[in-house]
Amino acid sequence: MDALVQQYLDQFGVSDATRHFLTKPKKMFIGGDWLDGSDNSTANVIEPSTGGVLTQIPIGSIKDLDLAVAAARSQFDGGEWRRLKPLERERLLHRLADLIEANATELAEIESVDMGKSVSQARDVDIQGTIDTFRYFAGWASKLHGRTVEPSLPGNYLAYTRKEPIGVVGVIVPWNFPLQTMAWKLAAALAVGCTVVVKPAELTSLSTLRFAELVQEAGIPDGVVNIITGYGSVIGAAMSNHPGIDKLTFTGSTPVGRTVGQNAVNKVKRVTLELGGKSPVLVLKDADIPAAARAVANGVFFNSGQVCDAGTRAYVHRSIYDQFLQELVAYTESLKVAPGLDPDCFISPLVSAKQKDNVSSYIAIGLQEGAKLAYGGRTLDGPGYFVEPTIFSHCHNDMRIVQEEIFGPVLVTIPFDTTEEAVRLANDSSFGLAAAIYSNDLGLVHTLIPQLHAGSVYVNAHSTIDPSMPFGGFKESGFGKDLGPEQLDYLMETKAVWITLP
Ligand code: NAP
Ligand code: MG
Repeated sequence: MDALVQQYLDQFGVSDATRHFLTKPKKMFIGGDWLDGSDNSTANVIEPSTGGVLTQIPIGSIKDLDLAVAAARSQFDGGEWRRLKPLERERLLHRLADLIEANATELAEIESVDMGKSVSQARDVDIQGTIDTFRYFAGWASKLHGRTVEPSLPGNYLAYTRKEPIGVVGVIVPWNFPLQTMAWKLAAALAVGCTVVVKPAELTSLSTLRFAELVQEAGIPDGVVNIITGYGSVIGAAMSNHPGIDKLTFTGSTPVGRTVGQNAVNKVKRVTLELGGKSPVLVLKDADIPAAARAVANGVFFNSGQVCDAGTRAYVHRSIYDQFLQELVAYTESLKVAPGLDPDCFISPLVSAKQKDNVSSYIAIGLQEGAKLAYGGRTLDGPGYFVEPTIFSHCHNDMRIVQEEIFGPVLVTIPFDTTEEAVRLANDSSFGLAAAIYSNDLGLVHTLIPQLHAGSVYVNAHSTIDPSMPFGGFKESGFGKDLGPEQLDYLMETKAVWITLP
C-alpha cells in the first residue's frame, strides 16, 4: 500500500477490519479454495481519491476459469446444493444477508476505497441494497412452482409444468456498484438453485472477494459460488463462449454487451444484458421547481454520474427553464466534492484516470458543439480523479453529448414547448433504460408514461430501486430483467411433463 493511501486511511480512520482485509493477500475463490492465478499474475488496485496503490488482486487465466466452471458444474449436476430443500436454501441466503449486515461498515469502506464512491452512500445504498436483495430473494426459494393443466387432447393425461434452475450462471459485472450489481444477479440465481461463476470488474474486485469469505462463513457449499478476478477481454470473453456455462448475465456497456450477447447466442446460451443508458428527465411546466431541481441534480450526480440510469438529459418547459436552471445550479453548488471516505462527500472521484479523461473529453466536445457551461466543467488537479459536477445549457438532440453515454457527472439541459415535443425528444435515443417526469398533473403524467420508451419510469423522483421491482432496459439498453419476480423467469427453464393415464 502506498504511503499516500495509508495516510488517507489514517486521516478518515477506517476500521481495523478494513485495514486487515486490505493488507492481507487477495485470492480468488474457486470450489471453496482460495487460489492465486494459475500463472501467478497480479494487478495493482488503485485508490481513486489518492491515485495511490491500495493492494493487488490475482489475474485469473482460462485454466482458472475452467476450474471455476467445473466446481460450479459439479455442485449443479447432483452436488449437495441440488439436494438441499428450498427452505434450506432460503435459510442459507438469510444467513448470508445477516453476515453482510454484520460487516456492513467494512464492506462500505472497502467499496469506497476501491471504487472511489462516497462511503456514506456505499453504506446506505450499495450495502443496504445488497442485504435487501438477498433477503428478498431468499424468500422466493420456497415459492417456486409450475402449474397443472387439463389438456383438450383426446385421451387421458396428467399434464403439468416444472420450473427448474437453468444451471451454471456466469455473472459479469461493471465497476460502478460492484457488490450491489453482483447481488442483483447472484441472489436470484442462488434462490432458484443455480450455481454461479462471478467475474467482477478488474477495477473493483475487492468487495466481491470479501463477500466470498462471507459466503464460506454462511455455510454455502463449496463450488456453489466461485469468484474469478481478471480481465474482461480474457475471462469475460471466455465465459461468454464457455460450454460449461448455461446462462450469462451481464451488466456493462452496450458495445461489450453486444459481443457478449453474440457469443452467448452462438452457443445458444441464455443471456440477460443490462447495458448503458442516457435517461431523459421531463420537467413539466407545473413542476415544483425547487424540489424538481434538487431531485434532478441528485438523479444525475449521485455516484458522480457513474450510474446506468442517471437522468442525464433534462428537457424543461420553456416557461420555467431559466428559473429551473438557476435553482439547479444553486443546489449543485451545495454538493460537496470530496474524497470518498469523507462522510460528507457527495461528489466523489471517478473510478479511474481513464474515466476522468473520458469525461473531460466529453466536456470539451460539448463546448466545441456549442453547448454553454451553466456550472462546473473543470477537472480538479490530482491526486484523485475529480471532475466537477457539470451542467450544460444551449444543447440540442443532435449533439454527441446529448446522444452518447458519458458516465460521469454531466447533465445536458434543453427547453421544450409542448409535451408532444418533450416525448419525441426523450425517445430520440438509441437507449431506453429509464425516464423521469416531474409534474403534479397526474392525469397528464399517466398519459405520458406509456409513451416513453424506457424500462423504468420515475415520477417526481429518480432511481428509486427496490428488489421487489424489475430493472432492465428497452432498446439498446439491453434485455431481460434483474430484480422482482420477473428475474426468476430468466433463471429457470420450464419443463412440460405429460403422463398418460390409464
Ligand atoms: P464494460 O467495459 O462493458 O465492462 C463490464 C464488465 O464486462 C466488466 O466486468 C468487464 O471486465 C467485462 N468485459 C470487458 N470486456 C469484455 C468482453 N470482451 N467480454 C466479456 N466481458 C467483458 O462496462 P464498464 O465500463 O465496466 O461499466 C460501465 C457501463 O456499464 C456503462 O455503459 C453503464 O451504463 C453500464 N451499466 C449498466 C447497468 C444496467 O443495469 N443497465 C448498470 C450499471 C452499469 P473488466 O472491466 O475487468 O475488463
Ligand atoms: Mg479501484
